[in-house]
Amino acid sequence: MSTTQSPHIALFPSAGMGHLMPLLRLAAMLAKRNCIVTVITAHPTVSTAESDHIASFLRHNPEINHLKLHLTRGFQIPDSADADPFFLQFHLINQSIHLLHPLLSSSSPPFSAMFVDMFLVAKTVPIAKDLHLPIYVVSTSSVEFVSLMAYFPVIQLKSTEFNNASTEIKIPRLPPMAVSSLPPALLDPSHLFTSIIIMNSQALSEAEGILMNTFEFLQQFQASTLGTLNKERAVASLPPILPIGPLEPYHIPPDGDHHYLSWLENQPSESVVYISFESRTAMSWDQVRELEKGLEKAGWRFCWNLKTSKVDKDDHEGEKDILSDFFVERTKNKGVIIRGWADQQEILLHPAIGGFVSHCGWNSVTEAAWQGVPVLAWPQHGDQRLNAKVVEDAGFGLWERDWDWGVDGIVKGEEIERKIVELMTDEKLREGAKKVREEAWKAVESGGSSDRVIRDVINSLSLPF
Ligand code: UDP
Ligand code: UDP
Repeated sequence: MSTTQSPHIALFPSAGMGHLMPLLRLAAMLAKRNCIVTVITAHPTVSTAESDHIASFLRHNPEINHLKLHLTRGFQIPDSADADPFFLQFHLINQSIHLLHPLLSSSSPPFSAMFVDMFLVAKTVPIAKDLHLPIYVVSTSSVEFVSLMAYFPVIQLKSTEFNNASTEIKIPRLPPMAVSSLPPALLDPSHLFTSIIIMNSQALSEAEGILMNTFEFLQQFQASTLGTLNKERAVASLPPILPIGPLEPYHIPPDGDHHYLSWLENQPSESVVYISFESRTAMSWDQVRELEKGLEKAGWRFCWNLKTSKVDKDDHEGEKDILSDFFVERTKNKGVIIRGWADQQEILLHPAIGGFVSHCGWNSVTEAAWQGVPVLAWPQHGDQRLNAKVVEDAGFGLWERDWDWGVDGIVKGEEIERKIVELMTDEKLREGAKKVREEAWKAVESGGSSDRVIRDVINSLSLPF
């Protein structure tokens, strides 16, 4: 017999699949736990992957409501935004945020709470307050990144700590962070990303809590566990860090071309290395050549999700235009190439996959943990070096710190070959990955640490009848 009324929760993601995916996963988890759920998405989206995915998610989850926030055009585009359409989209959503109030206030049944992307919190807080809605931040990254974001205004003030002379920054309760591992954009005070971080950093303290796609074991090798961090926060005003991960993947039956899944069916167990730099990291053509060499020499089977543009709409070339004839000839039957969106979760789940060469976007890290797949961390930008360290410390990944990052960095084929062989043959790594998987599943099962946290949040929002 139920004595409470289910809360109605609004979820508001920002831009890019790395932000959409975790908020949709959370939406599905809340709906499964009897919440009424509405997802609010900004339109038009940057990538086709986002609009396609929103449509198929809603088709397969008809109980989840959808509201569209139509972006206002005509705002001045900041100078630094030209490099990254996703940054520009964060900015545009923030500029159009006044449209959120009417969307929220006209809902029936009325909303009980707002779960908002970490990059939209500052502008959403006043609207939620006006409507007396409690607000929870949804982090799309690690505890390290969120702590860095919260502490960033302090670091900037102590600018001597942050200039070229220093090699590490110290955030209370966390191990020192190498300046070389910080998102490069943060080293530029005039970068749009830096202003987004500062603006949202100061608003974190207005939230009831920060929902994190993580679990205790994944971050226990750091000097402080999540529990300690919550007792003695990096920034005194930071709300509680609420680990609810790994966020449970949902399955949407594939439509379209999924030739790679039938190819994987015919490969021996743990014989294939999966390579993907995810939804918004383009690989340079020079780097493609080196990776070809590395893969060919390493000799392992491969499934390569090949992306040469930042936004999928710009990825026009066929694989034959990009790959060299030599490589295609030498690796016939050894591998499969994916162009366009693939169901990564489905690939990682496949028994044929034995290793994952990943840029270490936080979602990919948690997906590898969920499936117990060993990772070769090859961070490219943003929070990815911080994430690579988590993978290494938790014992399920390798990270070669000397490898260059960013679009101009090139890693040589011989280096890639060496690390792929290590990834696919290191038994300790394989055991480490199995252990992480075991702990991930323990956290999310009924009564596990992440399950308890999410139930507590839901209960706190449920009204008595
Ligand atoms: N993803 C996918 N198929 C693709 C590319 C990406 O399913 O072809 C998913 C991936 O599993 C993850 C998300 O998109 O859930 C990307 O997020 P992540 O944080 O790993 O990286 P980002 O794309 O933000 O750099
Ligand atoms: N980022 C992200 N999710 C996070 C943290 C960071 O997608 O939780 C991304 C952010 O969107 C941006 C990148 O990290 O794309 C910052 O990249 P970088 O510092 O390399 O900026 P750039 O030099 O590419 O402008």
